[in-house]
Amino acid sequence: MKTESDAAREGTITGRVEKVASDEGIEAKILSERVAAGSVVIMHRGKVAIGIGQGLRTKVNVNIGTSPACCNPDEEVEKARIAERYGADTISDLSMAGDISATRKRISAATSLPLTTVPLYQTVAETGLDNLTCRDFIRTIRMQAKEGISSLVLHMVSRTILKHIQESPRVLGIVSKGGSMMAAHMILGKCENPYLECFEDILSITKKHDIVISLGNTMRSGCISDARDRLHAEEMRANITLADRAHEEGVQVIIEGVGGHVHAGRISRYIRDYKRKMPYPLFVAGPLPTDIAMGYDHIAGCVGASLASGAGADYLCYLTPAEHIGLPTRDEVKEGLIAFRIAAHIGDTIKYGSIKKDEAVARRRAELDWKGQADLALDPERICQENPQGTPCSMCGPFCAIRIMKEFCNTRTP
Ligand code: SF4
Repeated sequence: MKTESDAAREGTITGRVEKVASDEGIEAKILSERVAAGSVVIMHRGKVAIGIGQGLRTKVNVNIGTSPACCNPDEEVEKARIAERYGADTISDLSMAGDISATRKRISAATSLPLTTVPLYQTVAETGLDNLTCRDFIRTIRMQAKEGISSLVLHMVSRTILKHIQESPRVLGIVSKGGSMMAAHMILGKCENPYLECFEDILSITKKHDIVISLGNTMRSGCISDARDRLHAEEMRANITLADRAHEEGVQVIIEGVGGHVHAGRISRYIRDYKRKMPYPLFVAGPLPTDIAMGYDHIAGCVGASLASGAGADYLCYLTPAEHIGLPTRDEVKEGLIAFRIAAHIGDTIKYGSIKKDEAVARRRAELDWKGQADLALDPERICQENPQGTPCSMCGPFCAIRIMKEFCNTRTP
């Protein structure tokens, strides 16, 4: 199969590019040129195609999946439905317990959104940490590719970076689950990262199925005092080199960076620095600008993600109120998703100055059109629950400033 990248480089405008261009309101030719340059990827599954990258609306990913401490596939399938219903752009299935393949198939059937996996999770869950080989990883990737996943995450930590982490003064060393598992495997086996050894095989599978590679942010900071260090710089350099190789091969690629916990004063600078150094779409987990918001990390994350997307991040991975506490409930998935949709929207108002939607809400509010205002909200259902009768906002009662303006100031001469 020709990848979207191959087609774009040949000058062919594919049906998916046309669809994404129409959804985003840009010219298909311009979009195709960006796909060819690697600054946009088209993530697809079935009839759904989502564009991520330069000049496009900021996208939001929702993580779901079973964990050994909490394995309820029905719940995870329901969370996938909730993610689609409340506007997620993509879903990542991070399942590590139960029948992982069966759960993924159920999630896949329950939603039409592009689906990402972390092949390391299934491989470790089914084979254990110590006896893994390149062949185990390739087998998982091939199986998931044949099932029709849209994207996969690779944790590419090298032995050199691993040595430096052991000398690092970080409070929290590696806080990426996949990154820490890969590091443990490399220490146990005294080996190089198997993904680095079989990267060319991975490229050949991902090219065959046009799967987007997402190069993981293993070295993201676990607290804001773990400021950017040489580990970040080394990972960024290594990931850019791997992304260049994938792009050269016609494989679509995203880089994950500036995720985790990052001081608010540094987020924008770090994002701009990343974007200056590479053309690929930047995927950010969070970031959390404070360590103290447990229980409300979706709110802290919304602040960090607004700054990140405003500075140029293309793709956000949501956080829920359950971050650092446990597996999120269905309600928490929804809360986290809405928080990150707000962040993506704020980011777009900064990036593109796009305030049309905000203005439309404001005009309805000025008209005291409470229902019309609710219809344009990110979560109209919530407004309906809080105000089932659709009555006017009651906060100021008869002293509603908007009503006073409308009745007195806007119609009478002072
Ligand atoms: S001015 Fe007061 S009553 Fe009117 S919409 Fe605003 S908060 Fe509600």
